[in-house]
Amino acid sequence: MPRVILMGPPGAGKGTQGEILASEWQVPKIAPGDIFRAEIKQQSDLGLKVKAYSDSGRLVPDEVVIEVIEARLRQPDTASGWILDGFPRTVAQAEALDSLLSEINQPYDSVINLDVPDQFLIERLKARAIEQGRADDTEEVIANRLEEYNAKTRPLLEFYGDKVQQIDGKPPMPEVTEAIKKFLT
Ligand code: ADP
Repeated sequence: MPRVILMGPPGAGKGTQGEILASEWQVPKIAPGDIFRAEIKQQSDLGLKVKAYSDSGRLVPDEVVIEVIEARLRQPDTASGWILDGFPRTVAQAEALDSLLSEINQPYDSVINLDVPDQFLIERLKARAIEQGRADDTEEVIANRLEEYNAKTRPLLEFYGDKVQQIDGKPPMPEVTEAIKKFLT
């Protein structure tokens, strides 16, 4: 039963890999970014609360993200496993996740970090801006997202320490999928 935390900078390919693995394993992919985009589209209270952060490439406050992900992980469909994509992104989120997972008795079995250097990320994110029309893929917002990543998310690699499996995220998508699967099975 896979319970996988997928980490990596914005544009590393977490979303794509998460999608492929989730459909192969028939487990939910849980991604705060996906949840927030859907809420923003619906103009729900949560959507209105997170829009300014998401649009500017800043992290949504921990308490907001933690509440959303906790509620999601407590739903019954997570019994078969899950893939977390984009959570945790801060040490406070990782600590909250640790206590939740022990409470619901669902320890994670792997932490995967997709490793991609900044210059590749910027190119990929710019390409995605054109392909998908995402509001947060403009040059200025990309710079903010990378800054947030380096300041707040990168320290998580130390938090998880030797539990982190580094995977090279530079090769073409199918190769990255294979590398992840090789490690997980
Ligand atoms: P990417 O990984 O490509 O940067 P995501 O779709 O994961 O994009 O996230 C989009 C936006 O949603 C982020 O820039 C941020 O504002 C918000 N967000 C997503 N996950 C988190 C998180 N764990 N903590 C805080 N904010 C988050």
